[in-house]
Amino acid sequence: MEAMKLEMDSLSSNEEFARVVVAVFMSRLNPTLEEIDDVKTAVSEAVTNAVIHGYQNKPGKIYIEAVIEEHTLTVTVEDRGVGIANLKQAMEPMYTSDPSGERSGMGFSFMEAFMDQVQVETQPGKGTRVTMKKRVAG
Ligand code: ATP
Ligand code: MG
Repeated sequence: MEAMKLEMDSLSSNEEFARVVVAVFMSRLNPTLEEIDDVKTAVSEAVTNAVIHGYQNKPGKIYIEAVIEEHTLTVTVEDRGVGIANLKQAMEPMYTSDPSGERSGMGFSFMEAFMDQVQVETQPGKGTRVTMKKRVAG
């Protein structure tokens, strides 16, 4: 098993940083370019959600953990923000709580499409943890 942890400020300027770090970490699995892009997209969606929904663009910390076991990459993105009251609804394709019309409500759907497994643990007032797994045959 190999693992890494990253703690960073909740800023949209850190989204690129987070996904590049995870992409570099997973490179030891000899992923295809497509697999790297899939993981980058999923990480990016989870971090964006933490920044805009979890912390509502206010200051906070985002915790990222990546673990490689055998041929499987597990990435966890965690915030200590507002949490999600209705998780079932939040995970439905095209559901967004954003009234501005700028968001499409597809973040969780993309994570599920690009990763093999997505698990969300959340508690209102406490925060949200998204755990995503992908098998990379190498
Ligand atoms: P898009 O990702 O397409 O820009 P979106 O962020 O609204 O739109 P999802 O990423 O699928 O869509 O998230 C759905 C909803 O789940 C969000 O609108 C928000 O209400 C809630 N949500 C997602 N992640 C978090 C989080 N980390 N903290 C609090 N609420 C969240
Ligand atoms: Mg989103």
